[in-house]
Amino acid sequence: MNLRSQFPILNTQVHGHPLVYLDNAATTQKPLRVIEALDSYYRTLNSNIHRGAHHLAAEATERYEDVRRQVQSFINARHSHEIVFTRGTTESINLVASSFSKRYFTGDDEVIVSGMEHHSDIVPWQLTGATLRPIPFSDEGVLDLEAYERLFSPKTRIVAVNHVSNTLGTVNPVVDIVRIAHAHGVPVLIDGAQSVSHLKVDVQAIGCDFYCFSGHKMYGPMGVGIMYGREELLNELPPYQGGGEMIENVTFERTTYNQLPFKFEAGTPSVGDVIGLGEAVNFMQEVGVDNIAAHEDDLLRFATDGLSRIPGARIFGTAPHKTTVLSFLIGDAHPYDVGTLLDQLGIAVRTGHHCTQPIMDRYGIPGTVRASFAVYNTREEVETFLAALERIMPMLQ
Ligand code: PLP
Repeated sequence: MNLRSQFPILNTQVHGHPLVYLDNAATTQKPLRVIEALDSYYRTLNSNIHRGAHHLAAEATERYEDVRRQVQSFINARHSHEIVFTRGTTESINLVASSFSKRYFTGDDEVIVSGMEHHSDIVPWQLTGATLRPIPFSDEGVLDLEAYERLFSPKTRIVAVNHVSNTLGTVNPVVDIVRIAHAHGVPVLIDGAQSVSHLKVDVQAIGCDFYCFSGHKMYGPMGVGIMYGREELLNELPPYQGGGEMIENVTFERTTYNQLPFKFEAGTPSVGDVIGLGEAVNFMQEVGVDNIAAHEDDLLRFATDGLSRIPGARIFGTAPHKTTVLSFLIGDAHPYDVGTLLDQLGIAVRTGHHCTQPIMDRYGIPGTVRASFAVYNTREEVETFLAALERIMPMLQ
């Protein structure tokens, strides 16, 4: 699959070596069509949306709302007003945690999360004052669904779990997780930051109540994300932020709020980034999400096989159903040293706790080295990465 020419940054040289970019779980690179959409927006279309009577405002509004419908169909939401634009997954989860807790928390509340959540799906819930009940997982990185069932209590208000773990790569059984929660009358938020770029997401088939993700992890621009929520629930929730656009009528005594989705979109949104996100969705649909997944799975298998043969390599996250993330340690070497030496050879990986400190505590390690793959990576790059690991081994002793 030769898509590389569409990604200009992949021609970069790093320390005299061709860049091998394996930090895709942190952010993906952008195809030309996304870069050009941003450029063209600011050259020809820049205008504030929804409020203007003039041509540019009308055109920008139309393009912005087109992307909302595009995202609706991309994740198969029932209505376009169930798609709320935010700054990213983090803001989407903060929005739900803040508004949902104001509406439904009583002061003695529990939130079930998984033991493998990103800090973005832990801290917003802690800020509500709720007690977190983490679902344990096995050494391989598989959630214990029987233990999950036992976590429900009359105080459980919501379940919040990731679809794909950014550290272990596990694809969590979100359909089962939702079914079990709904049997207890509890709604479910799915953190989809790591899944939308790798799996076909159908929010109606999953049955979840909220689904949150970021544009920049799916070939789109930074600064834009999505909070999908079921219409009935969104109508129940109070606004997250106050300001322009989210109101219907304002007096000093009382304000009434706009309809969905505008109730949750206070202030000027990042219009150009939303339009860029539309091009990212076009890119993914033209390549085909199934083709992207098959290619990345092939790279993951190939890299996992190669890494398993390197003496002293330990892989974290070996669930049977996993995708695109390879976390590991080499002997007793500090992950940061491995990452720095790989960088000297042009290879970009991430090191540290990956915003998942509870996972590190679970394994009793300070962090891992994480290689993560995207559609433009190749088997040759994986070979370069494995050869580089062999090459730096003597320096790690
Ligand atoms: N959730 C998961 C699973 C992630 O991997 C990330 C980012 O790495 C986030 C949430 C936060 O995403 P963002 O920083 O784009 O808001």
